[in-house]
Amino acid sequence: MPFRDECGVFGISPQSEAARQTYLGLYALQHRGQEAAGICSREDGKLFLHKAQGHVADIFDQPTLDSLPGDTAIGHTRYSTTGGNVASAAHPFLIHGRFGQVALCHNGNLTNTEALRTELIKEGHTFTSPSDSEVILALINRAQSTNVDDAVVEALQRCEGAFSLLILTADAIMAARDPRGFRPLAMGELAGAVVFSSETCAFDLLGANYLRQVEPGELVIVRGTTARSRFPRPKVQPKPCSFEHVYFARPDSNVFDRTVMATRREMGRRLARRHPVEADLVVPVPDSGMSAALGYADASGIPFEFGMIRNHYVGRTFIEPKQSIRSFGVKVKLNPVRDLLEGKRVVLVDDSIVRGTTSKKIVEMVRAAGAKEVHLRISSPPTTHSCFYGIDTPSREQLIAFNRDVEAIRAFVNADTLGYLTLEDLQASVRDPDGGEGFCYACFTGEYPVIPESKEPVPKSSCAATTSGGMLRKEGPAGRCGPSSKGPDAAERPPDVVPPGWGGGRHPAASDSNRVEALGSSRLPCGVPPGAPSATRGDFGTGSSGVC
Ligand code: SF4
Repeated sequence: MPFRDECGVFGISPQSEAARQTYLGLYALQHRGQEAAGICSREDGKLFLHKAQGHVADIFDQPTLDSLPGDTAIGHTRYSTTGGNVASAAHPFLIHGRFGQVALCHNGNLTNTEALRTELIKEGHTFTSPSDSEVILALINRAQSTNVDDAVVEALQRCEGAFSLLILTADAIMAARDPRGFRPLAMGELAGAVVFSSETCAFDLLGANYLRQVEPGELVIVRGTTARSRFPRPKVQPKPCSFEHVYFARPDSNVFDRTVMATRREMGRRLARRHPVEADLVVPVPDSGMSAALGYADASGIPFEFGMIRNHYVGRTFIEPKQSIRSFGVKVKLNPVRDLLEGKRVVLVDDSIVRGTTSKKIVEMVRAAGAKEVHLRISSPPTTHSCFYGIDTPSREQLIAFNRDVEAIRAFVNADTLGYLTLEDLQASVRDPDGGEGFCYACFTGEYPVIPESKEPVPKSSCAATTSGGMLRKEGPAGRCGPSSKGPDAAERPPDVVPPGWGGGRHPAASDSNRVEALGSSRLPCGVPPGAPSATRGDFGTGSSGVC
């Protein structure tokens, strides 16, 4: 029951019924944001937009989908981070500018929004919302370049922080991830169409094949039947969000080329080995604690039971910023099964503790249902720092682990025992490819890969320091911290490259030249004939259409 979700993006081209396919895609991504949603479609070079506050099912009906014609569409489901919960901040954003109509939707948070916004306002730009996503569109519109592809590259070179973007123009659909790859963005194919989604669960709903992730730092431009890949920035160490695997992503999704369910189950197994206890039942806090609880039961041999039931029909009505209301909201959402819990020693498994108030309430509920003992197990390390990369977290002072040790937290939530996953176990569970360097763990460590411009909280290491993790280094006159993402060789790199084989995980070498890949060609760039069986995850897949 941790942080609030973030945002989900989905796009498809070319596909008849593109808006309806996007609608279904957004349905699958509803868990990533429930405050607003929108779809922008394209027909004959003209863009059509519908967006509003609310759930996907509430916003779109037959007439609204009929008003979104064409064979290409992008969509977004939103939880407010930057920009607040205001109607004007709903995505996609659509502008009419130098490059005609351009629409954009965004998952993540820029960390240099205010500096960019101030600069753009001084240059005479006006904004219609507080959203950082609108800043990206403004950068595209005011770029020096004279064609939209180069303008997007130019804009992305100015953006710091987290972004997984979909951009729609009069004749192209583009997908981009920031150089760290904080937020996920998957690429698939469906009957000749290229499909992009925050998570692969949307592909499963539509019957699309997962091909690969859009690589950190990559910009994929699809125009007609041609796709090309560019890398606007020099390569840096990717830092995908480990919390996607802890909580945000759906367990049936493949995120960062890893199955979320398998990762969470491994977290639970490691939690059981790290914090064993004599008990009668393992009970998950639904839904987010489910997979880890199964893992805990696997490793401990203690029976798994659905000892708490979640009401899935509760909207966001009860998630209010008032403590009293929030406590009531827990009761509305969760109910313990007294017959299962009465007289039992219960291992209660949840994914994280944020403020501690919700966990306290849940422990109280389980005790009130007759549990003899409640042993709380958390499948992530203590959350000690806020996130600046697209996850809505409380200020650091509001995090219960900010200035309390485990015993103090245990006493606060009133559990008999409390055990957290260690950072090392989390790194092993997500199968960090770089020994603890290959993911972002900043909300557990304070080691921010990219330091935001001026917000709380102050990271535990100063900008001048190089931490043991090597993630914080002093950088340039702008005062930005983190490894240089815009090194001196940026301008020397060829601007237009496609990684050979589209295999993913490879940033182009300077010798790579422009490569343009034909969609639907007789042989895919990865050398696999169309219609061959799907490749292993992480390789560029196949599918019958030849999308690569
Ligand atoms: S700070 Fe935490 S939630 Fe934010 S990107 Fe890093 S790991 Fe994810």
